[in-house]
Amino acid sequence: MPHRPPPDADARRAIRPVICYPTAALPQPPLNLYRQARATADKTGETIVAPREAACFEVPAGHFFRIASIEGPQVGDLNLWNLNDLSERFYSGKTRALHGTHLTTGDRMWSSFPTLRPMATIVEDTLDWYGIDDYGGSVHDVIGTRCDPYTGNLLSGTQYHHCCHSNLTRALADHTGLPLHAAEPHIHDVLNVFMCTGFTRDTGQYFMKASPARPGDYIEFFAEIDLLGALSACPGGDCSSEHSSDAAMCHPLLVEIYTPRDGALDGWEPPATNGYDRTHGRQA
Ligand SMILES: [Zn+2]
Repeated sequence: MPHRPPPDADARRAIRPVICYPTAALPQPPLNLYRQARATADKTGETIVAPREAACFEVPAGHFFRIASIEGPQVGDLNLWNLNDLSERFYSGKTRALHGTHLTTGDRMWSSFPTLRPMATIVEDTLDWYGIDDYGGSVHDVIGTRCDPYTGNLLSGTQYHHCCHSNLTRALADHTGLPLHAAEPHIHDVLNVFMCTGFTRDTGQYFMKASPARPGDYIEFFAEIDLLGALSACPGGDCSSEHSSDAAMCHPLLVEIYTPRDGALDGWEPPATNGYDRTHGRQA
C-alpha cells in the first residue's frame, strides 16, 4: 500500500516544472558552416551493416557520416568513441539531459567525463517531421540502452548472441584487435537510430513501436573529433514486436562517409575538452 498523501499533496503536484538544462546556454553549432561544407563534399567510403550484426567505421574530424535505411525499416544502435582514445565515448545520459529523450537536427552527441564535449552534430534528419506522436513516442532515442544478452537471461533464461551489445562487442574486437572480453567494457549506451520509443504516461514504462523509417530515410552527422563508430542492426528489426531473438524481420543499414573539399571548413577547429579544472575542491 502506498503512503497516505499529505494534506497539501495536490499543491505539491501542481508546481510547474523547470527545464534542467536550458539549451540556450549551450554553445550553438555553426550549422550554416557545416551545410556549406557538406555541399562541397564527396562520398569517400561506405560500410554495410548486416542484419543482426555490427560494423565499425572511422570518420576523421570535419567529415560527415550518414546512416541510411535500405531495403526496409531497421533500427540501428550506435556507439561512438574518440578514435585515438577509447576512454572518451558517447554519453547517452548527459546527451538526454541536455537535448531531451530523442535527437534531431542541431542536437549533438556529447562525450563522457572528463572531456564532455560534442563528438558529433546532427546536420540532417529525414524523420524530423515525426515530432512526438499521441503515445508520447518519437524517433532516434537516447532513453533506451542497447539490447543485451544479460537482460534476456535475467528475464527469460536465454543465451542469445546477436543482441546489439554482443554485435557491438564483436565488431569492436575485430576492428581494434582487442580480445573479446577487453572490448566488451568499451561498449556503452547508444543512440537508437530510427527507433521509435517513449514512456507510457500511466505507468512510466519504456515502450517501443514500429519504426517510421523507410528505405531512403537517413540521419547525417558532422564529426567534431576523429571518431570510431560502431553500428548494430538490431535483432528487433523495426522494433514493432520483440528483440533479443531471431523472430523479427531484419534489414541491413548503410553507413556513408562524406569528405568536404579542402578549405570548406576554414576557421573551424575541433571542440576543446571541457574546461573544468578537475581539482574537485582540493588543493594539489
Ligand atoms: Zn538492439
